[in-house]
Amino acid sequence: MADTQVLVVGGGPTGLTLAIALGQKGVRCTLIEQKEAPQFLPKMERCNARTMEIYRRMGIAEKVRAVGLPAHCPMDVFIVFSLTEPPLLRHPYPSVAAAKAEIAARNDGTLPLEPYQLISQYTLEPLLKSIAEGLPSVTMRYGCALESFVQDPAGVTAHVRNGDGSPAALRAAYLVGCDGGSSTVRRQLGIRLQGEANLLQLRQALYYCEDLYKRIPIGKGRHYHVADARTTFLIVQDSTRHFSLHSVVDQDSDMATMFERTVAMPVKYDMLYVGQWKQNLLVADRFMQDRVFLAGDAVHLVIPTGGLGMNTGVGEATDLAWKLAATLAGWGGPNLLPSYETERRPVGVRNVAASTYASRGRRKWRAAYSPAMRQDTPEGLRAREAYVRIADVEQRKSNEMVGAELGYRYAGSPLVWPEEGEPPEDDFVRYRPTTWPGARLPHVWLADGTAIQDRVGDGFTLLRLGGNRVDAAPLGSAFAGLGAPFAVLDVPDAVARDLYGFDLLLLRPDLHVAWRGNSPPEEPERLARMATGH
Ligand SMILES: Cc1cc2nc3c(=O)[nH]c(=O)nc-3n(C[C@H](O)[C@H](O)[C@H](O)COP(=O)(O)OP(=O)(O)OC[C@H]3O[C@@H](n4cnc5c(N)ncnc54)[C@H](O)[C@@H]3O)c2cc1C
Repeated sequence: MADTQVLVVGGGPTGLTLAIALGQKGVRCTLIEQKEAPQFLPKMERCNARTMEIYRRMGIAEKVRAVGLPAHCPMDVFIVFSLTEPPLLRHPYPSVAAAKAEIAARNDGTLPLEPYQLISQYTLEPLLKSIAEGLPSVTMRYGCALESFVQDPAGVTAHVRNGDGSPAALRAAYLVGCDGGSSTVRRQLGIRLQGEANLLQLRQALYYCEDLYKRIPIGKGRHYHVADARTTFLIVQDSTRHFSLHSVVDQDSDMATMFERTVAMPVKYDMLYVGQWKQNLLVADRFMQDRVFLAGDAVHLVIPTGGLGMNTGVGEATDLAWKLAATLAGWGGPNLLPSYETERRPVGVRNVAASTYASRGRRKWRAAYSPAMRQDTPEGLRAREAYVRIADVEQRKSNEMVGAELGYRYAGSPLVWPEEGEPPEDDFVRYRPTTWPGARLPHVWLADGTAIQDRVGDGFTLLRLGGNRVDAAPLGSAFAGLGAPFAVLDVPDAVARDLYGFDLLLLRPDLHVAWRGNSPPEEPERLARMATGH
């Protein structure tokens, strides 16, 4: 017998989310991570709305919120000369509390069920690790690095090195490389990343400063972009006592000067870390080969300010988890695992395109900077006005890509019933709710105050909307014949029927629409076989 069913390589947010999702489905999985423990290094800080919906479905959203940025803190984005001068530009974005109130008050499907949550990667990783450790079918091995692997028709043998230097072999049915941008798994498969590499190299530093947040006189926010020629920006971390600063400077020690210049008031602080990172816009040619899969930064690298790095990885983890579990349980057909690449690679390409669009916007307003903007003269005023005009349009591109977060569709997937007609426009800026096959089920509140997403179970679900009672038995028997979990959910609420536009929706375990219609499917067996990858 194999040591484990699924070997997850890498304990970043993608690998940890995958381990939890697999563990919750009872899959025996082992996660190996080369580091001895999660590190206290600044990286991502925003789980987007879709990630928070996924975490809600996994039952961990409130745990994430409990250790993240307090709910009342605004998420505003500023462009400034420093934290003590009147801002050049301020884009207000709601706190979690305000966003939740807006979601509670609106029921037109345009909003997600959960708003975003600011949480530093160094807070999220230990939390996810502790949740994974509590699952009986999950084994966590930190200080264990993958060196190489071989696959055969029955499984994968991984050669690993333990923290004490001793080698070992691990046998698994499947292996998932969630091992980041320099992925050993991707390299061993010979899969290339395509796109634009090394666009810009920045330094990033992490600071602890007890009272800075309270003392910022120009308003509380999450990002303070500095109008300069060095691409400097300050990020408030989840504790509001830690800050990271990014800047193009010559040496590590310059990061102290840049922080002091940005803060522009006397504060006591500790600089905890300085490192370098590069901006890339890359996506892998392949996301899998036979029994080996790749997810997260191992297959896509974006410029992070648009928040599509870790969040795209969480999308992959949730897609792969139900497909691996179904295949291991025996009801997933031969097309199910290959559909991972068909469904998720286009999302990777789309999100790299969205990040390109956002970063070009940012480069545009940054390129309009001139030292004249600092002058207290009519010329200086004109330069500032021109700069703000560009930034007001272009900076929004980074923070207002809700279509990328909620609007991705698994069009063309072999698991999704092909519908005739013109699909809705694919737009990564705006989100327009749709039940076009392949789309995420738009959020709707029901009359009893529950959210429809919370009522849908973990298997396939036939939603009967608007009070219709068509016979679901043939479809139920078709799923039962395959051994696949299936349930019927009656939702009489008119609001859901009106928004979804159909009487019947077949939902997959990940809440994406597999099929829709106004009368029972004519070929229930064909539909069930298709949706389960047969
Ligand atoms: C400054 C900055 C800000 C960012 N902000 C955001 C944001 O707001 N939102 C967002 O979504 N994304 C953001 N990102 C991107 C985000 O940090 C990454 O997309 C995310 O870390 C990817 O997660 P991952 O689990 O796929 O990979 P990683 O986090 O890179 O994790 C990979 C793990 O694999 C381990 N590993 C590697 N090789 C091996 C091996 N051979 N054996 C065992 N273990 C191995 C590594 O040690 C590591 O722990 C930001 C990034 C940066 C740099």
